[in-house]
Amino acid sequence: ATPTALLVGTGRGAQLGILIRGPEALESTSGIDTIVLDKTGTVTTGRMALTGVHPAEGVDREEVLRVAGSLEHASEHPIARAIAAAAPERADVEGFTNVEGLGVQGVVGGLAAVVGRPALLEQWGLHLPEPLAEAKAAAEERGETAVAVGWDGRVRAVLTVADTVKPTSAEAVARLTGLGLRPVLLTGDNPAVARTVGAEVGIAEVIAEVLPSDKVDVVKRLQDEGHRVAMVGDGVNDAAALAQADLGLAMGTGADVAIEAGDLTLVRGDLRVAADAIRLSRRTLRTIK
Ligand code: ADP
Ligand code: MG
Repeated sequence: ATPTALLVGTGRGAQLGILIRGPEALESTSGIDTIVLDKTGTVTTGRMALTGVHPAEGVDREEVLRVAGSLEHASEHPIARAIAAAAPERADVEGFTNVEGLGVQGVVGGLAAVVGRPALLEQWGLHLPEPLAEAKAAAEERGETAVAVGWDGRVRAVLTVADTVKPTSAEAVARLTGLGLRPVLLTGDNPAVARTVGAEVGIAEVIAEVLPSDKVDVVKRLQDEGHRVAMVGDGVNDAAALAQADLGLAMGTGADVAIEAGDLTLVRGDLRVAADAIRLSRRTLRTIK
């Protein structure tokens, strides 16, 4: 590899909005055939808004928002921000815990409460009553994310939040596919939401309900199957997978640990630049050879 060609590539990258960790990072792209895309914050904006409150029978809507909003106030998760923003007032929280990829729990105004995936509420022995399960399924069918709220031995409500696909994501996926890459959508969210987002941007292959700690295993598995894998992500959750991938692309709008774990940073958080990055490295490598 001639250092000059790599330096020229690095300079061209900077113009396109791609920060390259070291000249050798460009060489990581050779032979990449699969690109794993994190959903929240990468393919979608990651900015969520509360779209629905479905209280269980006899439960007060304002109380649901107060309890859930108080708990979520302590979390940085996009879902948490949407719920906290919609809460009318806040109660004191003790013993707050964030259960990665599942939700949050703590004691709100003396009541032990939980907000998150039904799998987390199951750990508390709480099951969704039929009408709430239906509200959840209907929301997911529309591509929204539904989380459950529970306290005092019962599921109290389902809250729905929606994220929006970035306007540039579909074009980005088309460009990546045009470069001969196979796109895979990876998320901790549920399969219905994942499929809806996938369909919206043109990704048929989705891997959903993956715990943060297991994202790295998905990358390893694809590598074991003989693929050279690029991974694009933004979250704290994605750092290990970005480091494991043959080429890690971090969204510049994302968490610092993700940026540190990536080989390349897409400065503006525009997924189309991932395609530019791969094209640039291929060209740079051709110049070298
Ligand atoms: P992604 O992989 O798409 O970036 P995460 O791994 O961060 O998503 O979260 C996976 C799922 O865990 C969310 O879709 C949500 O159901 C649940 N969850 C995570 N954090 C929270 C939270 N603070 N409040 C409620 N639910 C949460
Ligand atoms: Mg994410």
